[in-house]
Amino acid sequence: MPGSYGRLNCGMVGYSRTPQIDHGAGYYYCKLNINRNGLPCHELTQMKNLRKVQPQFQERIDKMICEILLNTPYYEFRKEVRGYVADVTRGQASYKDNMFTVPSWAYNPRHPKNLSSGGGYFTYYVSHELAHLIAYKKYGARCYHDFRFYKVFKEVCPKNYQYFELDYKKTASNYGIRKK
Ligand SMILES: [Zn+2]
Repeated sequence: MPGSYGRLNCGMVGYSRTPQIDHGAGYYYCKLNINRNGLPCHELTQMKNLRKVQPQFQERIDKMICEILLNTPYYEFRKEVRGYVADVTRGQASYKDNMFTVPSWAYNPRHPKNLSSGGGYFTYYVSHELAHLIAYKKYGARCYHDFRFYKVFKEVCPKNYQYFELDYKKTASNYGIRKK
């Protein structure tokens, strides 16, 4: 099933990321100061979110990012972006540093939406945050859940999971997002 857990060898081996977070030492480095609305964000707030990162899911989300971007025009973006599963209420994308967080509840394989879709809700959630960062890179800051965002979202998110977006934004139907 596309997007299900553990499907793909994504070729992550062989390139290294600039380490921004040292999970082992409990020291979290963060220079983020722009939130996903393109507005300045208090640095301490960002650091607080990063302290909630769940490093045991890192390999999984790294692989998921590769898996989602494969066969899209944005595969190279995997080298620039960093995603984290974190104990936060909702996801957040930070344009300035190509970084995003996805809440651990959306990762949980026992979440009803993941159970009903073979883990597809997590795939959808990562796709949504990735689409923000890619749309920003392509079009600039002012494309927050507008047609440019959805153009990228539809390229990035596996088609069979796009319907989850309607639970979040009913207006997504205006941009061609269809029910299951
Ligand atoms: Zn969004």
